[in-house]
Amino acid sequence: MTYPENVRAIIDRLEASGESAYIVGGSLRDVLLGIAPHDYDVTTSALPEKTLALFSDMRVIETGIKHGTVTVISDGEPVEVTTFRVDGEYTDSRHPSSVSFTDRIEEDLARRDFTVNAMAYSERRGLVDPFGGSDDVKRRIIRAVGDPQERFSEDALRIMRAFRFAAQLGFEIEVNTLEGAIACAEGLKNIARERIGSEFIRLITSPYAKNALMLMVRTDVIKYVLGDYEITEELIDVVADMQAQDVPRLGALLCRADFETATDILGGLRCSSKQTKGALAVAVGAQVSVRSAEDARKLISRTGIYAPYAARLSEKLRVSSAGAELLTVRQQNTPCTVRELAINGKVLAGLGARGKQIGKALELLLEAVIEKPELNDESTLVALAEKILDKLNGEKNV
Ligand code: ATP
Ligand code: MG
Repeated sequence: MTYPENVRAIIDRLEASGESAYIVGGSLRDVLLGIAPHDYDVTTSALPEKTLALFSDMRVIETGIKHGTVTVISDGEPVEVTTFRVDGEYTDSRHPSSVSFTDRIEEDLARRDFTVNAMAYSERRGLVDPFGGSDDVKRRIIRAVGDPQERFSEDALRIMRAFRFAAQLGFEIEVNTLEGAIACAEGLKNIARERIGSEFIRLITSPYAKNALMLMVRTDVIKYVLGDYEITEELIDVVADMQAQDVPRLGALLCRADFETATDILGGLRCSSKQTKGALAVAVGAQVSVRSAEDARKLISRTGIYAPYAARLSEKLRVSSAGAELLTVRQQNTPCTVRELAINGKVLAGLGARGKQIGKALELLLEAVIEKPELNDESTLVALAEKILDKLNGEKNV
């Protein structure tokens, strides 16, 4: 078992004080799979106050001290150290009404969601795996710890996590676990929308997004995420072919929805304004057929930095022919916003333009430059601007 020296040092210090301590949960799962975990979790018999005292020479953050979690910053890296815990009754399919601490690692593992997440390891005790997690890692299976229906009705977010792990790891969801998820899916109505949104975005940006999305559609759990908007296998293939990032994949997923529905879904998933703006730009931009450099520049002027995603999507949807994405990327060196023009508002004011005329003239100049990038030098644009201003003044006087 290989894991970082700083995690080992934390475990050693806890053990030296007479407590037991283990690497646990998702980080152990990833270590067993040979994937680098993005963070490490340690679980210990030490009560939080004792952990705080033991690591008083380091930076320690009281992350969730009520739930037994403190974060020890060791070698600049955060390591979450949590006291062995049992969750009390779940009253609202979201939060345990209470948590209490225990000195038995097995009890702590039993509260965890899936067998692959319910293992612990320490050099002293070796692997603690009461639910067969390591077999399930080998067989690539997501299986609930204990009775699936009971576990999903305690906390329906686990349903989203099951699909998300399937998407991340390429694992199958074991049949009883899947049936439990279907039976308890209504519980997702009680889960905070931003938690559903965050799991769903992780899911669609994962390597096995297609399998997981197909399974969500087949089991109809998808309706708790996308409402009445229906997605086909063909669309899912397109989504999975996009760059594995939130904006291009959300854009692809929503490209068959009308603008209002897409906006509502993004809002419902509590997407950031950047995600929303980007995804809508990709979804709408994908309807622009890119066949020439000029088309590509038009697309860039409408969708800005999201143009290459929109172009790729339009290729996948066969709105554009192959090569649209490349063409768009290549065109990004040519001006696409008024700020990139070789002329600015001050120069236009010097030519006699006033107020709203300045903005209007800049837009017309940009249109001209998008069609013919070689026009983008100051003296050419000044000459053109004079004509445009004449015309605008003429319109005003009519
Ligand atoms: P990742 O870090 O990639 O999200 P993870 O499995 O580490 O995956 P975390 O949310 O970091 O997930 O949680 C750490 C561990 O805590 C999990 O592996 C699991 O054992 C337990 N856990 C997390 N959320 C739940 C939950 N909703 N129900 C039961 N156990 C959970
Ligand atoms: Mg984790």
